[in-house]
Amino acid sequence: MVAVFQAPLTADAVKEKARQLGADLVGIADGKVMDENPPDPDNPRRPSDITDYDADRVIVLAKRYSAGTSRIMAWNDRHKYYNDELALTRLEEASLELVYWLEDHGYPAIIVPPTHVDPWRYRNDPDEHMSTLISLNHAAVEAGLGTLGLNLQLLTPEFGPRVIIGAVLSSVPIEPDRRMETSLCLGPECGRCLKTCPGDTVGHWNRDWPACDRYRSPHGFAQLTEHLGGILDETDAEKQKELIRSEDSFNLWQSILRGSGVVTGCRRCQDVCPVGKDYAALSDVLDDIPETTPEKEKRLGKMVEAEKAGALPASYEAQRRWIGALQTQRKQPET
Ligand code: SF4
Ligand code: SF4
Repeated sequence: MVAVFQAPLTADAVKEKARQLGADLVGIADGKVMDENPPDPDNPRRPSDITDYDADRVIVLAKRYSAGTSRIMAWNDRHKYYNDELALTRLEEASLELVYWLEDHGYPAIIVPPTHVDPWRYRNDPDEHMSTLISLNHAAVEAGLGTLGLNLQLLTPEFGPRVIIGAVLSSVPIEPDRRMETSLCLGPECGRCLKTCPGDTVGHWNRDWPACDRYRSPHGFAQLTEHLGGILDETDAEKQKELIRSEDSFNLWQSILRGSGVVTGCRRCQDVCPVGKDYAALSDVLDDIPETTPEKEKRLGKMVEAEKAGALPASYEAQRRWIGALQTQRKQPET
């Protein structure tokens, strides 16, 4: 009977501990509800796929990015990558300390980090999008922390999308939080995530994830394999040495040292999103979006027209549970 080793815990006590350890936001999702509602039924990635016994609750922790880095406009600035990697380290440390604390109270626990993907699913294609063991954005919605935006990024009332999230699984018997029913996103009438995106990867309640990965992880495995392939293919010995000494090699080496530019990268869509109480302190430098183009504006205009005509795309319907009821729909007069 493991119960004799278990001390009673409440949801408030777990959240308080997570905040003491450094989390800025904490929410609790019901693992069974997540099991029953996989975001992608073809690739379910359920909490119970990770552990048979200790996934009754999914405790989602969020750490905010520093405002100073959000105010750097270049998507590919290495200070941003490095600072974000430190925020990730802090989040991982808080998650591990929470695991030990839960276990000291008698509840085995396990971390689901935001950077770990299932190696068994890798199919020798560096350009294929690899996902985390559970979708942490969806877990955060189930844990009541926010809703998904136009490009399916997590939006929170406190920090908009400017957070990094991780999760701790444990079967500690505590009350789960409630999911938000209405969208925090301002929809294509805002569209700032689409306008700013350097890879033009944002769709209508959707995102081209493999294309985005080249920006979110600019010095990741795809660039590494390309660069090594280029070195091997070069037949001129002097040019081969140049490639070995090149800036690409330098960036890859630096990224392998700390993970900055691999597990962190572009987050322009997160920076410019006006959702979140923190945006007021960012707007003076982020309101302007130099990356927008007439073509992007036209595409957004078509999305707005389609939504006004009640024609929501299949991508919205598939993710409705986590996006929530749209603000444009709420504004429509009742008939
Ligand atoms: S992370 Fe960068 S590339 Fe990906 S959707 Fe956001 S802005 Fe676009
Ligand atoms: S930038 Fe605008 S459209 Fe994009 S997620 Fe934020 S509120 Fe939604």
